[in-house]
Amino acid sequence: MNLKSSSNINSIKDVAIIGAGPSGLFTVFEAGMLGMSSVVIDSLPHIGGQCSALYPEKPIYDIPGFPEVSGADLINQLMRQAAPFKPEFILGSGVKNICKNPDRSFMIQTSSGATIHAKVIVIAAGCGEFGPNRPPLEGIEEFENISVFYSVASKAQFSEASVVIAGGGDSALDWTLSLATIAKKIYLVHRRSHFRGMDGTIEKIKPYQESGKVELVTPYQLHALKGEGGKLKSVEVIDFEQNIRSLPAEYLLPFFGLKANLGPIKDWGLELDGGCISVNYSTMETNVPGIFAIGDIASYGGKLKLILMGFAEAARAIHSAYNIVFPDKALHFQYSTTQGVPNV
Ligand SMILES: Cc1cc2nc3c(=O)[nH]c(=O)nc-3n(C[C@H](O)[C@H](O)[C@H](O)COP(=O)(O)OP(=O)(O)OC[C@H]3O[C@@H](n4cnc5c(N)ncnc54)[C@H](O)[C@@H]3O)c2cc1C
Repeated sequence: MNLKSSSNINSIKDVAIIGAGPSGLFTVFEAGMLGMSSVVIDSLPHIGGQCSALYPEKPIYDIPGFPEVSGADLINQLMRQAAPFKPEFILGSGVKNICKNPDRSFMIQTSSGATIHAKVIVIAAGCGEFGPNRPPLEGIEEFENISVFYSVASKAQFSEASVVIAGGGDSALDWTLSLATIAKKIYLVHRRSHFRGMDGTIEKIKPYQESGKVELVTPYQLHALKGEGGKLKSVEVIDFEQNIRSLPAEYLLPFFGLKANLGPIKDWGLELDGGCISVNYSTMETNVPGIFAIGDIASYGGKLKLILMGFAEAARAIHSAYNIVFPDKALHFQYSTTQGVPNV
């Protein structure tokens, strides 16, 4: 597949998909099945949205037909499913602006200066341009992506390492449990003595505490990072009485939740509902004809922010877009079993 970092797409595409998360990737397949070409644009440098960025190795249990599948494997399968339709990808480049051309098609401009023309737009932008809540530690930028990570791309990196995990929710507890099997030592730092995460996970961590593999450092907050050239040597933590402890560690994983930012999307003239885009549920079309929204970013009565909803919404949006893309053709609904898929 054509994974570009930034460029202009010269020919007009049928569908421009904003967001390469699970909803956006499945839109490529649905569009392809109805004979539409597509281009996918994402501000992140990789595909997969939240599944790749936040929980690639975590098992997902509620994808129909997959009793258990990791975030990364689900994205790989969606890419395989999309591959026959040869979508183009523009990654590491956020969509900044959308304008309507006189012929009612759209011109899309990205942060890297690329210009794309498309007949319809499907916005599958999740919670917008998202990023982690970063702890307010002086000089943390120097350590980021070397010793400080806000998500785990590969567990193997932490093998036999001393790791400080900070946070009181499910992510902090889940990763403590998961890395306890391979790390040398894990310090789990939380500013309260009580964790918000699942009781079951706390119970599962107990044997690792007893063996000394995991140490709960509560009620403490992150205070300072010590190290050189981005390589961490220790993490200082502080309690309410201002007592400071130094925890020897090569890595810090802060899990303080996500900060979602709709970013430029709020300036595109779309009707918004909080941090989401209001759509007509029966078509997934927004208040701007030709612009559809699906997945986590789409809002309507009864909406569930689940991957399986995004898949169904992709099908609905593409079927609704057919008349705009092919105004002179009638859509004859077909099952994939009848129609088949090219090259599969
Ligand atoms: C820890 C965790 C566990 C989860 N577990 C489950 C689960 O078990 N089952 C389940 O169904 N769901 C689960 N979810 C939710 C699931 O991940 C989301 O529902 C799903 O990712 C939404 O997919 P999406 O494609 O709509 O958006 P996303 O996955 O959020 O992808 C949106 C993409 O759009 C991009 N984007 C945003 N703005 C722009 C812009 N202006 N220009 C270009 N690109 C842009 C973003 O960079 C992002 O890559 C979980 C979520 C988390 C955080």
